[in-house]
Amino acid sequence: MTDNTEVEKSYHRYQELGGIISEKDYESALTKAKGTITSRESTIMQAKNIAKFAGIELHSTEDAIDPRIIFYGILHDIKPKEVMDSDWRLFREALRMVEDTDALIKLKTACHTNRRPGTYCTLCGQTRENEDCP
Ligand SMILES: [Zn+2]
Repeated sequence: MTDNTEVEKSYHRYQELGGIISEKDYESALTKAKGTITSRESTIMQAKNIAKFAGIELHSTEDAIDPRIIFYGILHDIKPKEVMDSDWRLFREALRMVEDTDALIKLKTACHTNRRPGTYCTLCGQTRENEDCP
């Protein structure tokens, strides 16, 4: 995706999915994704734990790391200000970047819809019931 039109188009799609990080950080993540990624073990474990909690199946093999983990690792390094250091939000943005709507729904369901009464949503921080998760 060296063509700028392509980047704009995919950023638009990312925004349609509710993506919140800036186009600059988005582009930066895409550029890094094309390079060699050696995500740290701890970062991979974080992503795996969040996915496990939400019932999202990751598909990493010995040769290829699941793209959702790769993007999680990259975003972890970029630290977009919009996610305010929340690992949960970082993972959500990673899912939006790979346009995985199915996993997005699972994550929102696990963190927001099915959370215990009185606890807050790790994605949006709301404690009240019946509010939508942005
Ligand atoms: Zn929420």
